[in-house]
This record gives sequence, C-alpha cells and structure tokens, in this order.
Amino acid sequence: MKPISDHQQQLLRRLPGVDALLVRAQSDPHLAPMPKTVLLRAIRDTLADFRRRILEQPDRITDPSLPERHLLAAVAQKADKLQAYNLQRTINATGVVVHTNLGRSCLAAEALDHLLDIAGHYSNLEFDLRIGRRGSRYSAVEDLLCELSGAEAALAVNNNAGAVLLSLDTLARGKEVVISRGELVEIGGAFRIPDVMAKSGAILKEVGTTNRTHLRDYQQAITTDTGLLLKVHTSNYAIVGFTAAVDLKAMVGLGAQFGLPVMEDLGSGNFIDFTRYGLTAEPTVQASVATGIDVVTFSGDKMLGGPQAGLIVGKKAAVERIRANPLTRALRIDKLTLAALEATLRLYRDEAKAVATIPTLRMLLAGRPELEGRARRLAQAIEALAHPDLTVTLLDRPSRVGGGALPTLDLPSCCVAIRMTGMSAAGLEKALRRNRPPIIGRIEDDYFLMDPRTLADEAFDTIAGAIDTIVKGDHQGNIPY
Ligand SMILES: *Cc1c(COP(=O)(O)O)cnc(C)c1O
Repeated sequence: MKPISDHQQQLLRRLPGVDALLVRAQSDPHLAPMPKTVLLRAIRDTLADFRRRILEQPDRITDPSLPERHLLAAVAQKADKLQAYNLQRTINATGVVVHTNLGRSCLAAEALDHLLDIAGHYSNLEFDLRIGRRGSRYSAVEDLLCELSGAEAALAVNNNAGAVLLSLDTLARGKEVVISRGELVEIGGAFRIPDVMAKSGAILKEVGTTNRTHLRDYQQAITTDTGLLLKVHTSNYAIVGFTAAVDLKAMVGLGAQFGLPVMEDLGSGNFIDFTRYGLTAEPTVQASVATGIDVVTFSGDKMLGGPQAGLIVGKKAAVERIRANPLTRALRIDKLTLAALEATLRLYRDEAKAVATIPTLRMLLAGRPELEGRARRLAQAIEALAHPDLTVTLLDRPSRVGGGALPTLDLPSCCVAIRMTGMSAAGLEKALRRNRPPIIGRIEDDYFLMDPRTLADEAFDTIAGAIDTIVKGDHQGNIPY
C-alpha cells in the first residue's frame, strides 16, 4: 500500500462529514423533498466514492477546489438513481422478439386497458354474477381457451413451468412417465424436464435415443408402473440429420390402447398456423388437441403474446383432476394476469385482428421491406446528429423469435449498425445500456447493432438522443474533483 501523500491528505480533509452534507442537501430544492433515508444513503455512497478516488486516482482529480458543489451534484445523481424504479421500461434493440430477459411479450393495447380497469376496481374475480354466489376465477378464460383450442376443458395457472409441474403431479405422482431421450429439455432459468419430473413425484422413464425414438420404444417401456406418456416440444434446440420422432397422434393411439393418459408440453404454444405467413411450422394448440390428447400445456407470454401464464387444455376428466389438485391453489393465476390474458385471448377470435394488434405477432411477422424502411428512418435520425466520429451503416442481419421457439429460424431483417471513433463497440453497448431508458442491442463485427423488428418507431428519437449524449460526453473519464 502506497503511503498517502500530502496532496491526498489535503483532499481528504476537505471532504465534509455526513451531517454537514445532509444539512446542505436538505436546503437544496431538488434534494429537500426526498426521504431522509435516501439522502443519507446517497451521501454515504458519494463520500465513499470520493475517498476512493482520492486514494486510488489522485492524479485524475483536476480541480481540487469547491468540493461541495461537486459533492452535491454527485449526491443528487445517486439520490435520483435510488428514487427511480428498479424495474424499468427498456428499449429492446436486440431483434429477439420473445426475449425472456427483457420481459418476453409486450401486451396489446386491449390487454393493457382491461388490466388497468380490473386492477383499479373490484371485479367478479370469484363471484358468479348469475347466481350471486362464489364463482371460479378460471371461468374468465375457460370458455375462450376451449373455443380457440377445441378442447373440452381448460385452466390457467402462473406459468407453463407450473402447468407442467401441476399436471405431472396430478396425473403421474409415484408413477413412471415415458418420454423420448431427445426431449429432455432444459429451458433457461433452470427449468429442466428431469428436475420438474422429480419435483412432481413422477419417475422419469426415458426411451429411444437422442436422435431417434420410435413408437415401439414407448410401447416396450409400458408396464403396470406407467402413469403417463409425455411429449415435450424441443423448444430451444433442434435435432437435425438422421432423426425420428413419434407423432402425437400415434402416441395418443398408444395411450388409448393401454388406458394411459398422454400429455404434451408445447412450450411456446400458439393458435396461429405460422406457415401461412411464411414462417416455419410450429405446432398449434388446436392441432395437438385434435389428436384427442388428454392434456396440453403452453406459455401465455411466448409466441401467444400475452401475460406470463401457464395454460392447460384438454380432456374434461384430466383437467378436472388437475383443477382439484391442492397445488393449483399455490400456482394460481393473479387477477391482473387474468385480465390481460382474457383480453389477449379474445383478440385471437379474429386472426387478422390478433396479427394486427398483438405486438409479439406483429413483430414476428414484420417483413423485410417494412423493416428496411424503418431501419432507414432510425439511421436518418442518428445521421441527423452529424457527428464526425459516428459511422452509421445498414446491415442485413437476421432477427430471432426467442423464448425457446423456432431456434433455427432466421427472420430476415435489416439492422442499423453504428461505430464510434474513440470508443469500442463494447463501450458503446455499455453506455447505451446505462441510458435511461436503457437501450439493449447486440455487438457484431465490432459494430453496435440495432434491429428495428423489436423497436417501436417512438424509440428512434430516444435512441438518437442517447447516442448524441454519449458522443458529446467526456470519454476521458476525468473527474473535476
Ligand atoms: C418455455 C418452456 C417452459 C416454461 O414455460 P414458462 O411459461 O416460462 O414457465 C416449459 N416447457 C417448454 C417446452 C418451454 O419451451
């Protein structure tokens, strides 16, 4: 440890105490209205920062005079940060539509309206208005889910992980669940089929091989201990090459032959046949239900574009057993989610309307020409800053569906790529990530890349403004005090 110089000692002595700074802060018009706990935290953190700077980087302190003004400015900055929401709106420029880290799906205006109405008022959440007595919270979406999927019965819980756990616990606790080796999925965030199976009390019985599983593999695994045949959508990976998987219809037939229930975890389920819009086929919920399967589970906030939820549809007998499981209460869907879910599902009654109004669908189905036009507009907003340090280019780079759906599908897009003299792409990424609102993009070929697919047009000016601030900022990292 280096000894402290006279210069450093002088700087340290000039730092005021916490109490003195608090008195100053409380007479500052911006800081005064803030809670004292916030001011104290901001003051302590600021003083600690300044002490560290004096001890570690004394040469970078260019102006040793007037510490109080600088101190108060630093306190205000910290206090503002403490007062701001931790969970905040973020600009998704990654081009990953169902980005789990960024909140998956943005709700349609209809869903937001209904959510706000229900959240701010009493509702008939568990009150049957026809008979004037207690009703079921699930009735708000049950009919709609049945209508859209063709299923006999339906239930909505907290999320799809919960739906899978609950279904396995109900249908196969203490029994063997037969599943293909190629479908032992791990989803981000520690959802792994073998682990969920273990938690539910069901016993994993894997059959076939990683790349090929045949109907006879399932059949040979069936014993008196078997409780369920399970199919899991290989959401976030694809097995290509020499492969074979058993189709759902055949599995349902096998289940019927042996009197065993059959379940499918669809992952990112949807009611729309995406091949009609030029995307790769994703199994629809209706198609799974049409096989006569007992239970299908899927997420509310992946390609469906609604709120976080786990949807369970299928045969009445199976769904009623699931509903009666005490675990259902622990995994129950909350009323805000239910409001947003009902509104989202209603949009699916008219596919054209769903595609036009549900942001996730709109983003997924946006075509290359539209995206190029929007990329040009974003590029123009940035070029209008006319900074000589800034290079703006359009690059053809694909977007991704995300959310563990269609992992191999490249959605053709046109990205805005920027470079700045004197700052690395990583530096630019970090500065934009720390903007308010944060702007999250990707780095490729030493460019910072922004994909218009996941951006609202309203964000273009915000992005240009943030870049302007960064370009004009002091990159040397000098601190006046
Ligand atoms: C995403 C996914 C889940 C988990 O769904 P959540 O709604 O995130 O809980 C389960 N299974 C599969 C196959 C998935 O893709």
